[in-house]
Amino acid sequence: MKRELNNGPIVQKEKDTVTEMIRLYCIKKHHHQQRLCKDCQDLQDYALKRLSLCQFGESKTACSNCSVHCYKPEYRQKIKSVMRFSGPRMLLYHPVYAVKHLLNK
Ligand SMILES: [Zn+2]
Repeated sequence: MKRELNNGPIVQKEKDTVTEMIRLYCIKKHHHQQRLCKDCQDLQDYALKRLSLCQFGESKTACSNCSVHCYKPEYRQKIKSVMRFSGPRMLLYHPVYAVKHLLNK
């Protein structure tokens, strides 16, 4: 059975947030201004795909708080670094609910 991809408002908001966070990380850490470096692009594609396929859909909790670890270990490490770096900076510039939700604060 083929499942519909998630594209409700909550998942969409998380996609926007994770995209912002990876972009910020790449600009500051890898000094890529125009577009993401290959690694970060790869990570972004992966993260967006995970969100599209998240089995909890619109009732999902923060990924860091989820009982299902759907990330492969290597991507899990990478996204953790991005969150750790970009999380506090995002809160500084965009003190939005979605970021707090994502960080489970
Ligand atoms: Zn990068």
